Amino acid sequence: MSARLILKPGKERSLERRHPWLYAQAVNKIQGKPVAGDTVEILAADGRWLAVASYSPDSAIVARAWSFVSGTTIDDAWISQKVKDAVARRESLRFNTDAIRLIFGEADGLPGIIADQYADYVVLQLLSAGADRWRAAIAAALKQATGCRAVFERSDGAARTREKLEPQMGPLIGDAPAEPIAIQEYGLNMLVDPVKGHKTGHYIDQRDNRYLCGQLAQGRDVLNLFSYTGGFSVAALRNGARRVVSVDSSADAMALAQQHARINGIFPGEAEWVTADAFDTLKRFLAEQQRFDLIILDPPKFAPSYRHVDKAARAYKEINLKALKLLRPGGYLMTYSCSGAIDVDLFQKIVAGAVFDARVDCQMLRRLGAGEDHPTSMTHPEGEYLKGLLLRAM
Ligand code: SAH
Repeated sequence: MSARLILKPGKERSLERRHPWLYAQAVNKIQGKPVAGDTVEILAADGRWLAVASYSPDSAIVARAWSFVSGTTIDDAWISQKVKDAVARRESLRFNTDAIRLIFGEADGLPGIIADQYADYVVLQLLSAGADRWRAAIAAALKQATGCRAVFERSDGAARTREKLEPQMGPLIGDAPAEPIAIQEYGLNMLVDPVKGHKTGHYIDQRDNRYLCGQLAQGRDVLNLFSYTGGFSVAALRNGARRVVSVDSSADAMALAQQHARINGIFPGEAEWVTADAFDTLKRFLAEQQRFDLIILDPPKFAPSYRHVDKAARAYKEINLKALKLLRPGGYLMTYSCSGAIDVDLFQKIVAGAVFDARVDCQMLRRLGAGEDHPTSMTHPEGEYLKGLLLRAM
């Protein structure tokens, strides 16, 4: 029999609403001796069965629900079916890209598990003890569901550190990619390095926004801040932008961005690549009275947790304020936050504050977010980490 976590009175509510996380302070008693990654049953104080979950004794989130259906057995077959279901849900996306998020953690009922397909490779990221436990079954199911040539693991980052799990990297099935993997996204060619790249190698979540950027870029002067490997820039260049300036502090990212321009038929002199701090560059461009018609602001996560929200809000406000001042009338701002701790309403308030202080009139045309391969579970709104706004200066 699995071990059991018995909750304190009143602490069953969020699990009853099918929120998959159980915080350590909600637990009153542990029956049995579960170790990290074990499957445990969660019971309310009055003995009611709530969920079957994976156990993470070293994390503030002490358990993550696998299922709220009593009698569910978590085994290789169950994991394998969930993986196959997640992959099947993405079939309709394959027409415009071969870089797709196949599994998005809680949203696919597989907490702690991320899997991204890049052409015929799948890159797996395991972020919790429970996810770690099922590594072999997940990899085998991914191989079976996609027919990919290899499954490569890239498990690192803050989430793993919080679980006291060591980083893991290497091939699980098949070979490790000998060189960056060539993918295409809405007709753009890109290279993904699952070993050295950010996350699993590529910001798949921004796919539709890079496409939108291409749609808006014709004849415009474009500034792409925090450009990473230049996805937004190349989309703009390929769609007739007049001038494209990319700014990122990472020399490696900038080198790959230039390579992306080349493999998409753009000559080196056709774009400007600035390896520098984005805050400093904004200041410099303001002093030089440069102006743009389309600005993309896609900074790294400024708020890694709720404790950092105030400081992050100031940083978001500062870059948005300065970017708005660089925008010509009629120009567009695509502005993003990928901080899970800042929700869409707060982000909109921060940007509204920047609009007010910049003394520009702006319309919001759309709220922006990740593509359909990054769904949000209705019972786990925290999963919606990427939010953006499309503004037009008047
Ligand atoms: N828009 C990109 C992803 C951006 S990721 C895409 O579509 O692929 C955030 C980027 O910000 C990273 O490349 C990182 O190197 C860069 N970065 C972080 N801090 C920075 C700073 N202070 N100035 C400039 N770039 C920075």
